[in-house]
Parts: sequence; structure tokens; C-alpha cells
Amino acid sequence: MADPSNTCDSEQAVGAAPADQGKALTVEQAVERLLGHAEPVAETEVLPTADCLGRVLAEPVVSGVDLPYWDNSAMDGYALRAADLAAHGGRLPVSQRIPAGQSGTPLAPGTAARIFTGAPVPEGADTVVVQEVCEPEGDAVRVTAEIKPGANIRRRGEEITAGSEVLAVGTRLGPQHLGMAAGVGAAELCVHRRLKVAIFSTGDELVMPGDPLGPGQIYNSNRFLFRTLLQGLGCEVIDLGIVADDREATVTALRNAAELADLVLASGGVSVGDEDHIRPAVQQLGTLDLWRVAMRPGKPFAFGHIGATPFIGSPGNPVSLFVTFGLFARPFIQRLQGMRDAGLPQPLPARAGFSLSKPVKRRDYQRARLSMDGDGQAVVEVFRSTSSAALSSLTWANGLAIIPEGEPIREGDRIDFIPFSELLG
Ligand code: AMP
Ligand code: MG
Repeated sequence: MADPSNTCDSEQAVGAAPADQGKALTVEQAVERLLGHAEPVAETEVLPTADCLGRVLAEPVVSGVDLPYWDNSAMDGYALRAADLAAHGGRLPVSQRIPAGQSGTPLAPGTAARIFTGAPVPEGADTVVVQEVCEPEGDAVRVTAEIKPGANIRRRGEEITAGSEVLAVGTRLGPQHLGMAAGVGAAELCVHRRLKVAIFSTGDELVMPGDPLGPGQIYNSNRFLFRTLLQGLGCEVIDLGIVADDREATVTALRNAAELADLVLASGGVSVGDEDHIRPAVQQLGTLDLWRVAMRPGKPFAFGHIGATPFIGSPGNPVSLFVTFGLFARPFIQRLQGMRDAGLPQPLPARAGFSLSKPVKRRDYQRARLSMDGDGQAVVEVFRSTSSAALSSLTWANGLAIIPEGEPIREGDRIDFIPFSELLG
């Protein structure tokens, strides 16, 4: 059924597939439905901590130690007893020197220890005085300012106590998590195995960059989008290249892909035109629904199964592919990978730097650029065209503006913005 609100010239209407006859799904409903079908990969492996970037934790990291391990100095300076300083008129002999990596000896009464950042505070000292307010005088030190008793000491276990969980199951491991794991002495981590995703692009018009472009042909952008979007999510990509607009070729590619991978992604050919072979081919091998999601860009979007392997069919237009990948495929993949917080990206509030008098009835994800105005307010501009074929809209933008269903926008209105960083990792 044609959607009268579809003013986007480059999109095609979705035909009357069974799942397509009811009310269109909201983006949230579509994501919820998808996540309902996502079964995390069960297999796990134990890897050296340094090799775990981008992996998802399958067992929690529990600290075997207190952190800090012992009371240590937060600054370069002098460790002393605050009461001694008052009793000795602000001047104390220096009885030892404790660099990081050494442990020193108990502090002799009425003395100070020269100490450096990270070094253990000697037994008996209760304060570290920063070197900036200290003047060395021969073998002694004079403190030239008021001091705060207890200052500049990081206490044993103040950050983490032995036995507590420092990283939860389902965490996608970034550099900060790996640093944390190493900080509590974890040399190896138990992670989910890498998700294998097979991709192919359908279309007789497609040519690879580097090959000559014939009449009616275009370069294959989607293969590059798919590959790198998936790599950004830490997937192992099985790239099956370009598949012709032909039923048999599509069936063969799908069968092959489903055998090799945990998930199959295809671009293009998901409509119901004569040259769109994805739907009958997936249905021949398994099941497929075409979903009508009340959003722009992004129609049509297909989800199904070939045997036990899930299948997502993305629109051929590159911008639609990029947006639907970020909103739908990404959370689905996150959940398959075992991520705890799989879901839609969190938008940021901003001010519209544009107005829109004729909104579409569907939620409109326009390519947008966020910047700060002179008053430090976050302001969003949108790209001049909403064409879902225009990749230049994505390279111009740094995120997506969300135009609510049917709502005109006046300049200065509050508007939600999704930075690309939220869609890509
Ligand atoms: P389709 O979904 O196959 O009907 O394709 C919709 C539009 O996207 C058509 O203009 C296609 O030429 C274009 N398109 C399909 N696949 C790709 C691709 N891999 N790279 C760039 N454009 C594509
Ligand atoms: Mg096509």
C-alpha cells in the first residue's frame, strides 16, 4: 500500500507481504521484535587480555586485590605525621626517600620521608605534603603553608575491594575496560567468540571500484558500508561479494551464507519488483517478513531465517542501509554478541537550527550536523536533501536529527540528535 507521506523519491513502496498489512511498526517496536529473535552466541573463549578489544565479556572480572593495593602517595612531596610538623615549627629532618616501586621503612618519629607519586606511604605517616609548598634545607624540609592532615594519600581499597566485580558479563570491552582488567591483575578474559556475519550486495548494476563503469552501472558502495560497519562492531565478516538479480544466484548465495555465518545481511532486492529476488529466495529456504516501519529513510526492511540462521535484508539505497543498520542491525548484532545493553542509541537534546513546515507522517531521521552556537548551545542543522541515495549527506553530517512523526519544526525547538559515534561502535 502506498504511503502518502512518502515524499522521498528514491524509496520504493513495500508490497502486501503478510506482516505488511497491519499498522506500521514504530522504530521501538521493530527493535523490540528483533531483539526477541536474537539468541546470543553460546561459545566462549579465553584470550589474553590485550587481544580482547571489542569483544563481549562472558564471565565477570572479579578483583583478587584491593585497589590501591596499599596506602600510596597521590603526589610528589613529603610524607609525615601532621602533629610532628606543628611540634617542630614546620621543619623536619628527612629520614628516607621512597620512589615508586619501593616500600620504605616505618617513619621515624619527628621526621619526614621524601616520597613520589604512587609510592607506598610509610607506616606511621598520616599526611603527604605536596612538594610545591616545601623548601629543602640541607637534610631537612621546611613546610611553608598550612597543611591538611590526611591529605594526598590514596587509601588501600578506596577504589575497589578484593572480591568485588569490576566488569560485568555483557560488557563490550573498550580500552578502558582492558586497562581496568589489567589493573586488577587479569591476564586473560573469558569472552564470547566473534560473531560471523555473511554479507552480499544484490544488483546487476553494481561494479566494484577499480573496474570500468559501463552504461547503467554504479559502484558498489554498500559492500564497503557493510564490511566496515560490521568491523566496527567487532564481527568477523564473510564477504560474498555481488550477487546478480537472479533467483537461482540469490538462493545459492543465501544457502552458502547461512551455512557459513551466524547472521546473513544482504543489501538491495528486498522490494517486490520483478528484479527483487530476495523475498522469494529466502522464502524458498526458510521464512521472511517484510516489515513496515514508520520511519524515513529505511523502507523496505526484511527479517527472516534460513534454517536457524537469522537474515536481515537492507534497502539498496546506501543512506537507508546506513540508518537501518544503526537502528536495527546494530542492536540485533549486539545481542547476538552477548552484549547486555543492546538497543537503540541514546539521543542527545539540542536546538533546531532550521525549520520544517511540511513534516512526513513517519519518524524522519535526517542527516544532521551538530555544532555549538555563540552561547554554547548545541544546535542542529539538516542536510539540504533527504534523498536516501545521497551518500554525501552522510559525509556532510556528524549524526542524525530525529523529526518526530508529523511534527513541524520551528527554529529553536528542542530536537533529538544521534551522534554517529553512537551508531558506529
Ligand atoms: P534496490 O533495493 O535493489 O531496489 O535498490 C535501490 C537503489 O539502491 C537502486 O538505485 C540501486 O541501484 C541502489 N543500490 C543497490 N545496491 C547498491 C549498492 N551496493 N551500492 C550502491 N547503491 C546500491
Ligand atoms: Mg536492486
